[in-house]
Amino acid sequence: MPTPEEDVVLKSEIVDRLRATGLKATPQRILIFQELMSRTDHPTAEDLYSAVKQVHATISFNTVYHTLQALTEKEMVSVIRPVVDAARYDPITDLHGHFMCSKCKRIEDQLMEDPNLKQMDSDMKASGRYWIVQSQILWVGLCEACGNARNPDGRNLS
Ligand SMILES: [Zn+2]
Ligand SMILES: [Zn+2]
Repeated sequence: MPTPEEDVVLKSEIVDRLRATGLKATPQRILIFQELMSRTDHPTAEDLYSAVKQVHATISFNTVYHTLQALTEKEMVSVIRPVVDAARYDPITDLHGHFMCSKCKRIEDQLMEDPNLKQMDSDMKASGRYWIVQSQILWVGLCEACGNARNPDGRNLS
């Protein structure tokens, strides 16, 4: 939890960022974005809804969902869309990869420091052939904890 002073700073920063993209800084939008920024677990819209409901009891799931759409459109948040699971939201919009555990659904950030990868990304964007809205690298598998639970002796299954 931020201290009250930090909270004020953060809020005014969020207001500025919303306004810079042309979005109205409504209390609901501020709250939703602030909640997302405080998390590193890449929550679903559902997760964010349960969290902001604690603070703002009358907020609807629809408001949360549409706010996330608007923030995504304005590139203030990024979204990870696993093929079979619910979309997950991320306050980090710089190019980075994700590992997602197919069992516990944990998503971990993977920094992409490889210059070749960064080059590929900017080449794609500069090619003029596409209008790129998002670059995404997603690895799906079992995290260490879930992998160990499935294979308790640590034997190599392959
Ligand atoms: Zn897992
Ligand atoms: Zn991320």
